[in-house]
Amino acid sequence: MRYHFVLNGYLQNCQKLMQEMKSFKETYLSAVEEGVTYLYCQSEETARQLNGRLTENARVLIAKEYVPEVVLKVLEELANPEDLYIFGSDYAGEELAVRLGARLGGSSLTSVSSIQIKNGTKAGIKAGKMVYSNHMEAIFRMKKGPYCIGLAKGLTKAEPYPGQMYIAEVHNCYEYDAASYIIERSFEPVEQEESLEEAKVLIVAGRGIGKKEHIALLQELAERIGGQVGVSRPAAMNAWLPMNHLIGVSGAMTNPSVCITAGISGAAAFYAGIEKSKFIVAVNTDEHAPIMKNADVVIVEDFRPFIEALDKILEKS
Ligand SMILES: Cc1cc2nc3c(=O)[nH]c(=O)nc-3n(C[C@H](O)[C@H](O)[C@H](O)COP(=O)(O)OP(=O)(O)OC[C@H]3O[C@@H](n4cnc5c(N)ncnc54)[C@H](O)[C@@H]3O)c2cc1C
Repeated sequence: MRYHFVLNGYLQNCQKLMQEMKSFKETYLSAVEEGVTYLYCQSEETARQLNGRLTENARVLIAKEYVPEVVLKVLEELANPEDLYIFGSDYAGEELAVRLGARLGGSSLTSVSSIQIKNGTKAGIKAGKMVYSNHMEAIFRMKKGPYCIGLAKGLTKAEPYPGQMYIAEVHNCYEYDAASYIIERSFEPVEQEESLEEAKVLIVAGRGIGKKEHIALLQELAERIGGQVGVSRPAAMNAWLPMNHLIGVSGAMTNPSVCITAGISGAAAFYAGIEKSKFIVAVNTDEHAPIMKNADVVIVEDFRPFIEALDKILEKS
């Protein structure tokens, strides 16, 4: 088994990715046979301008713009099913690692911070990643090659070997027509909300609110009082709000002045995310739900009339 790096040369901070990869190599890969660095970038010139190298030689995949399909197509052709492919901690590295693993019937894991490869062979590769807001490291066995991993952000950095890359091969990807993969382009503004961790008033929706449309009721109330809306895991899994609104050990750990929970049972994994609240109001139809024991005020009722009534009172005040 050999290991290879797959590096995003379209990025301004490609050097930072190289430093993380070099540190990963020094810490975990000394017993594994070195492969090559696959650098995907705009031109051979870009590759030549890079300062430092990770492996003895590099294969450069050239395309005018970054289109995942184009890079994947070449990697798919070149990949060896026995080998380990290490992608950077950037957005493209994460996507390519998962998609290459899936296409070639191998294994993939992202945000990897450690790896164990017994005797440098593929038998029992185990990769580690931090989970539950960095509270625990989970170890995953990777069973089938090719083994595709994306590195975690913020790994320690080591300076790559000095000198230019030795470019062993250049793959011109122009022949794969990027345009045929892109049906339409549009840009969506990034949500610039206050982070949930900083919210002074938090309203959290759980499975008990029943459906996505009911989130709007909570959003109206939150807007009126300058608060934020979060969700429990079932609500996030139903896509009632994006995953960055998840509260609990797998999401945001908050400490608002006031937290109102609606249709939330109060499971331990959720409650850890709101336990630092100064004042908790729980609205639940079940008076025996665990959240009721931990709340300062409990409302045993359907969440909807309560939220609507509260909104009306606040509208008048
Ligand atoms: C390792 C691990 C990590 C996890 N991490 C998280 C995490 O970070 N965040 C998280 O949220 N969960 C997490 N979970 C899941 C967690 O254990 C619970 O399953 C989850 O929090 C339950 O969400 P809920 O309260 O919305 O749903 P439920 O437990 O189904 O509760 C729904 C509640 O709504 C009430 N209800 C029903 N209808 C109404 C109504 N009309 N009005 C008012 N109340 C109503 C019900 O009485 C019930 O109490 C994790 C689980 C595991 C195993």
